[in-house]
Amino acid sequence: MPRNHDSLTARRISPAIWVNDTHSGLNRTAVSRVPEPRTVVDVARVVRRSRSEGRPLAVAGGRHAMGGQQFLSGGTMLDMRRLKRVRGFDDERGLLEVEAGIQWPDVIRAYLTRPGGMYSPWGIRQKQTGADRLTIGGAVAANIHGRGLTAPPFIGDLESLEPIGGLERGTCDCSAG
Ligand SMILES: Cc1cc2nc3c(=O)[nH]c(=O)nc-3n(C[C@H](O)[C@H](O)[C@H](O)COP(=O)(O)OP(=O)(O)OC[C@H]3O[C@@H](n4cnc5c(N)ncnc54)[C@H](O)[C@@H]3O)c2cc1C
Repeated sequence: MPRNHDSLTARRISPAIWVNDTHSGLNRTAVSRVPEPRTVVDVARVVRRSRSEGRPLAVAGGRHAMGGQQFLSGGTMLDMRRLKRVRGFDDERGLLEVEAGIQWPDVIRAYLTRPGGMYSPWGIRQKQTGADRLTIGGAVAANIHGRGLTAPPFIGDLESLEPIGGLERGTCDCSAG
């Protein structure tokens, strides 16, 4: 394949954005772009643009993973933390509908904050220990487990997922096993 000198030059002179993981700091990486989408439509736009430019794309949440899997040298790093709305709360079933970039403190606030300071009967069965500012997207990606190792991993606490691709959206039923 012929070398495209123009794009190589453009990549070399474009200023690098340095990122690293939150916890160990062992994954310093120069990425080219860090879009911070606020809507699902924004996410799809970033995915489409990366695809059409042939640029690699990595997704990052709270950046706590210590293996560096949320970073790609020279690639786009999709920072999901602004996609953090609570879309709904079914108080009867204790079922929250949230966006992927939401972090645990906002998730907890969503079910504890009740009209008139009323008591909330709900709690989280499991989350990561030792840190709070991790996203639900990161928890799903790693299928995390909590301290109680006899509880099923995180997928057991999900009813459904709505994957966002560049072109299509869908719902995945997590109860199907
Ligand atoms: C102090 C500490 C304590 C921990 N404790 C536990 C524990 O008790 N149990 C446990 O199971 N794990 C634990 N972990 C690991 C942690 O749960 C995972 O690394 C988790 O994925 C981090 O979430 P994050 O939001 O920081 O994601 P990031 O570190 O930003 O990303 C982690 C991975 O998830 C992917 N990802 C993130 N968001 C999305 C998204 N919206 N869509 C698709 N992919 C996405 C990234 O591409 C990457 O591959 C711990 C980590 C630390 C640093």
